[in-house]
Amino acid sequence: MNQGTEGQTGIFAGSLAAVARIPVLGVPTEVGLRLAAAAQKANGTEVHLKIEAENGIRLTHNVIAEQDTMSGSFVVVGAHLDSVSEGPGMNDNASGSAAVLEAALRLVGEPATGIPIRFAFWGAEERGLLGSRHHLSTIPEEERRRIGLYINLDMVGSPNFARFIQYTSENSSGLVARIAASLNHAFAQHRLPVEERTRRSRGFGSDDASFATKGIPAISLFTGAGGVKNKAQAQQFGGSAGQPVDPCYHKACDIVANISEQVLKQITDALTDALNELASH
Ligand SMILES: [Zn+2]
Repeated sequence: MNQGTEGQTGIFAGSLAAVARIPVLGVPTEVGLRLAAAAQKANGTEVHLKIEAENGIRLTHNVIAEQDTMSGSFVVVGAHLDSVSEGPGMNDNASGSAAVLEAALRLVGEPATGIPIRFAFWGAEERGLLGSRHHLSTIPEEERRRIGLYINLDMVGSPNFARFIQYTSENSSGLVARIAASLNHAFAQHRLPVEERTRRSRGFGSDDASFATKGIPAISLFTGAGGVKNKAQAQQFGGSAGQPVDPCYHKACDIVANISEQVLKQITDALTDALNELASH
C-alpha cells in the first residue's frame, strides 16, 4: 500500500527488485488500511480481490555510442531513456538523456587521446534498472572489468533544483577522484555550490546501482526529485524551502515547462568539461 503521507495516497506503482514468488499488488492507502483493519478481526477475515491487469512482454532498447573501447580501461556515461507511465518524463529523464547527448556532440572533433568513453542510453530503468543491468550481465566479463567508472545522469533539470554530486565509493583516488576534481572545478569556476554525498555499495537507486553492485564505482549528477527542499538547501542553491525540488516527479505534469533550463545547462557544461578532461589527457 502507498504510505499515506500527502501526495502519496494513490495506487502504489513501485517495481520489485527481483521476481517475487508470491503475487504482489499495489493499492491506494485507503484500500490498504481497510485490508489491514479486516485482518485485525479476532475470528479472521476472508478477503477476495478482483484484479484487472495486463501482463505481457515489451521490447525495449539500449542505445550505445563509443569509440576505441576494445582494449584498456574506459568510462561509461549514461542516462535512462524511458519514463514512468504516469507522464512524459521530461525531467525524469529526458533531461539526463539530453545532457549526455549534448556532451557527446560537443566532444565530436575534440582530440580523443585519453580514456575512451562509452555513451549509453538505457531502456526500462523505471521497471527495475533493466537496460543497464542487461548490459552489464551480457557484455564479456573481460570487457566489464575494463570499465573504470560509470557516470550517471538522472534528473538534471529539476525546477526547484539543488546540485548533487553522488558517489558510490571513496572519491579520494583514481578515476573517481579525477572526475570529482573536474566536476568540482567546473562548478566552482562559475561559483555554483554543490553538495557531495556518498552511499557506498548500493548507490542511489538509479542506473548507478547496476554498476555499484558489480563493483564498478559510479558518480551521479542529480538536481533532486520529489523530496522537499530544506532551509539550508534553499540558502545554498536558491529556490523555495518547504517545496518539493521537483513537484512533478513521476507525474503527468513532468512536461518541458517543468525543466529548469538554467540548471540543465550548468550540469551539461560541467559534464562536458569533465569528459573533455578525461578524453583528451
Ligand atoms: Zn529517473
